[in-house]
Amino acid sequence: MARMRARQFDRQVAKRFERRFGGRVGVAIPGRDEAAALERQREIVELAEAVADEHAPSGRVDPEPIIRDKAMTLSFGEYGDAFDGMLEFQAGRFHVFCNRVRTGTPGSNRSRFTLGHELGHYFIDEHRLALASGRTPAHASLSEYESAIPVEQEADTFAAHLLMPAKRFRLAAKRKESGLAGILQLAAGFGTSLTASAIRYAALDLAPCAVVKWDWRGYAWKHLSSSAFRAHFRQTFESSSDLAAGSPTRLALEHKPPPECGYFQSGTVASAWFPGTLPGDWRDVIFIEEAVPLGRYGVLTFLYPASSLEVGR
Ligand SMILES: [Zn+2]
Repeated sequence: MARMRARQFDRQVAKRFERRFGGRVGVAIPGRDEAAALERQREIVELAEAVADEHAPSGRVDPEPIIRDKAMTLSFGEYGDAFDGMLEFQAGRFHVFCNRVRTGTPGSNRSRFTLGHELGHYFIDEHRLALASGRTPAHASLSEYESAIPVEQEADTFAAHLLMPAKRFRLAAKRKESGLAGILQLAAGFGTSLTASAIRYAALDLAPCAVVKWDWRGYAWKHLSSSAFRAHFRQTFESSSDLAAGSPTRLALEHKPPPECGYFQSGTVASAWFPGTLPGDWRDVIFIEEAVPLGRYGVLTFLYPASSLEVGR
């Protein structure tokens, strides 16, 4: 009987979501010029790391107790394919929905990131106030860097810093191997996905590297570490047909089964990936290319120089 009621409840939520999705109202984010955007990013990062330090001063950060601590309620249900999570304000209370259809079982990497993302909508003042005032009915979220909407990206930033605080991540990375092998270990330790961990790795510039995401339609986005950028490795080829046949990324995009470690790996050269580098040029150094298939989410490429880079000014 309880199970019946739960299913009915899930269906109602899914329906309510469908009705609201079309009429979703955006949240006004102050100042979008570059300096203001950087300042705002810095504030969100500080906020997320402060929440992490307050609620989980060491070890792994678990978003569920934070949700409870803030007197929010939480339900995991099957809400169709349209969203990962949602934060709703009703009758004076915040409620978090986590969609098992897209995020898997409670405690999975994606569900932890989704809860971190919804906590971002709660802790970031403009997001919470917009919800509480009724100006925006509910945040239907696609987390883990799938959305180009600024509020969604802000919540992703919050989630990444909440689950992978800079100091803890940097310290843990020091003891890991280079490349995807190390990032897989970091992901396992922090309870985060490979994608989120690789982005965090590049953002903290733990080594010169590029993270390139492909979905099944083609190139999606990339993140360069600042040292790769300073070494003039910036623009990458963005069409898989420009990549060498038989390269790790091409093999993964062709649905070839990866070796036992879960990803393809091979040596390549800078000019195979960066159109600004000419073959044979002094900058045409040897890179390691690794590509991991992510199932429905596409393919993630991780590129890093085989030996240390001479970083230009
Ligand atoms: Zn969201």
